[in-house]
Amino acid sequence: MTTFVTFARLILFLENKRMSEENAEYAPEVCCHCGGIGCMYCNKKGTVMVPQPAQKCRHCDGDCCIYCGYTGWERPLKEY
Ligand SMILES: [Zn+2]
Ligand SMILES: [Zn+2]
Repeated sequence: MTTFVTFARLILFLENKRMSEENAEYAPEVCCHCGGIGCMYCNKKGTVMVPQPAQKCRHCDGDCCIYCGYTGWERPLKEY
């Protein structure tokens, strides 16, 4: 579990770094698939980084589909 926390922090760190580098305006939005509990699609964080202004996925309108990576948001930042 400690390893996972460390890993999550590393991801966040890299995320912030990438954000500032690209100067993109991303903000965390509650994952539509799990409603914030955390699931495999949001990296168990309950939120996904979405370009602002955040828009619901135009394919499923927030119902989750393959186009939004099952997060319900338009162009969510992928974290792998
Ligand atoms: Zn989720
Ligand atoms: Zn969708």
